[in-house]
Parts: sequence; C-alpha cells; structure tokens
Amino acid sequence: MPLILITGLPTSGKSTRAAQLYDYLTERIAAESSASSTPKFRLHLISDQSLSISRSVYDLDPAHTPAHVRSANASEKDARAALYGAVKRVLSPRDIVILDTLNYIKGWRYQLYCEAKNVQTPFGLVQIGCPVARARGVNEARIRRQEQEQQEKEQNGDNNSTKDKSTTTPSTTAATAATAAAGAAPKSGDLHPETYQQSHQNWQQKQFEEESKGPDFDEDITLGDTDFPQEPYLPRSNWENLVFRYEEPNPMTRWDSPLFILTWNDSADDARKVFDQIWDEVIVNKPQKLIRANKSTVQRDKDPGGDYLYVLEKETQDIVKRILEQQAEVGEGGTVRLSRSGGSKGEEEEMLEVELPGKKVGLPQLQRYRRAFVALNRGGIGLEAVGTLAAGRLRESFVGYLNDAFEKEM
Ligand code: ADP
Ligand code: MG
Repeated sequence: MPLILITGLPTSGKSTRAAQLYDYLTERIAAESSASSTPKFRLHLISDQSLSISRSVYDLDPAHTPAHVRSANASEKDARAALYGAVKRVLSPRDIVILDTLNYIKGWRYQLYCEAKNVQTPFGLVQIGCPVARARGVNEARIRRQEQEQQEKEQNGDNNSTKDKSTTTPSTTAATAATAAAGAAPKSGDLHPETYQQSHQNWQQKQFEEESKGPDFDEDITLGDTDFPQEPYLPRSNWENLVFRYEEPNPMTRWDSPLFILTWNDSADDARKVFDQIWDEVIVNKPQKLIRANKSTVQRDKDPGGDYLYVLEKETQDIVKRILEQQAEVGEGGTVRLSRSGGSKGEEEEMLEVELPGKKVGLPQLQRYRRAFVALNRGGIGLEAVGTLAAGRLRESFVGYLNDAFEKEM
C-alpha cells in the first residue's frame, strides 16, 4: 500500500530503523493475514544498498568524480532515477514500499509524494533525529577503523616497509578531508542568492583550507560488531556536504507529512510505538478524503430569486481573503481549510481544503485565478438558464479550481 520514506543525515541510523520497520511490518502483515491464504500486502525495502548505488554518487566534489562520469551531480541524478524507477515499479495499493536513502531534497520528496498520489496510495515519512556530532562520530569511527586496518595490513604484509604512520593514511582521507572548523555553513534561505553563492564559495574554500585538521567536533562513537557498511566510510568533504545540503522536512507541507520522528536513543519499545502509529495512520487508514470538484465550471441551479453574479464575486473574494489569512499560519505548501458554506468556523460541517503550492502565493496571483474562474463561470450570451448556484457548490468549485492551478505550479 503506502510509500514510506526514511530521511535523515548521513550515518544517522536510517538503515537501522528501516530494517526495524521492515521487521515490524513483516510480522504485522503475517498476523493480519494469518488465516487467509494470501497476505494482504507485499513489502519492499528499497535502498541505495539494494540497488548497489555507491555513496560516491552523492559526492559533489569534482576532484572525486571518476573520469567516465559526465559531471559530479550527473551520477546523483542517475541514482535518483534508478531509485525512482524501483519505487514506481512496485508501488501499488497492495505494496508497501520503504525507501531508505538520504531523501534529503525537498523537491525529490515532493516527486515521490506525487507518485504515491498517482497510484492512490498513502504516503508518510520517518525522520531519524540524530545530532550532527553523533552522525559525524559514526563516520569518523569508520575512518579510524579503516586507517587502523590499513596500518595493520601494511605492518603484517610488508615488514620492511619504512613508511611512517602518516603515509599509511588512505590517500583519499587526506585529499578529501573537510571540516566543521570552517564554521557553520551559510543557509540558503537567509541570504540573497548571489550573496549566498559567494558565501557558500567562501565557506567551501575555508573547508578546503581546514582539510588537514579534520573535524573538530564529533562524538566519540564505538562501532558495533555488526557495522558492515557498504563502503568503509564517506570522505569527510562528502559527508559534510550532504549535511549542508540536507533540507529538513516540514510537516506543514503535504509532501512531508505525516511525519514520524525516531531518535537515536529511542528504545525498541519506543520505536514499536511509532511503528504502531505508522500502521494505524498510514497503512490501514485511508488517506484523508479531499473534497475536490473535478470541473472548474459547475452546473447552475435555476433559482430566479438569487443574484448569481453577486454570489460568484462575494464567495470567491471571501475564499481569496481566507487563503491569504491562513497562509500566514500554515506556511508554503500547507493546507488551508475553508468552510463549505462560508459560515464562520466552529460549525459542524464539511470543510474544503486548498493545498498551497511550495512557494508563497500573493494577492495578485490569487486575484488572477479568481478573475479567470469568474470569467469561466459568469456565463454570457446564450446562457438563458443562469440561475443561482448554491454558494456551497460555488465555493467547492473554486477550491477545486485553485487546487488544480496550484498543483500545476509546483
Ligand atoms: P545510515 O543508514 O543513516 O547511514 P546506519 O543505520 O547504517 O546509518 O547506522 C550507522 C551506524 O550507526 C551503524 O553502525 C549502526 O549500527 C549504528 N546505529 C544506528 N542507529 C543506532 C542507534 N539507534 N543506536 C546505536 N547505534 C546505532
Ligand atoms: Mg543507510
């Protein structure tokens, strides 16, 4: 059935939780379908590992790009296409898909959300909450282990070697070391794009200069016996860059919700509780029904008593006003809820939902849509049967129109 994304920083424990969720769901599906012959759901765990995607594809440093690769981020695009294809192939109302990869780009999560919506299957996210210093500590521990192994190998295999300790460091470590000592990375949202680009370049330069020193802040992590990563470790610059590029999920947006959070310290019991919630909210429950008119024009009722054009203007104006008011609260990509009848809040009635696009909508834009909608529904010569459209139907229709328009804008 649904698509569940696991998201979090590199080496933050995503695959560990993904495996736990997989085990939980396997058990749950078996329990649900014990008597009946075929299980209700099929379960899939898709990850970089399962598709043999090397983590180097996420490395944007041109110095690490293999000669045969078009450009540093071309390989990441190919990797994303492979992951997307793998999800698309199996996702269906009967298939539960866990996607365990970084899922760090907002636009990528949006794309997957749309894919789930296309096949009419629910969607949810699990974010792994882990402090940067701890996640970095895991990578550092792997780097240390690798260095040690290398050293031992050289000592055992070549006793005549006069190499000193520093030359036994894997060359990649020295070449790729970048560090948090370069300071906090600039945040794209806070700065003008050009200023941002400049400060990002400065930041990268500084990182480069700090290369030899290594990160100054990481937790001392001891790796467990079961730590068998696909690759020995991530080069430091790659690791830091992925953290820098990570776009935190925003549960106010529909492509980042429902969002479940698991932290490193959550026990197996805690995790189980969260998995129970996922089962209840995402897997067995139908997604919230959205009231949507599928046509932008509506059939009009014959009601000689009403002033149709007046109602058309008034109701659409009211919706525009309420969207602007609520946008401030729910933010970009949020859902605005409007009463169907136009009455004040609090009454028990069906609500209409407008799903805002990923960027802020302004009054001029809303007015443009409103005028277009009014023009479509105003009628004209030959529309002798113009009557009053019930305000509720009209509001519903305008909301449907806006949802379609916003969706195209994403
Ligand atoms: P990711 O998939 O995010 O790269 P992994 O799940 O592979 O991270 O975990 C990285 C390392 O951290 C592994 O050695 C794993 O055993 C360890 N680890 C992950 N989560 C936890 C946790 N909650 N408690 C202790 N160790 C953990
Ligand atoms: Mg992993």
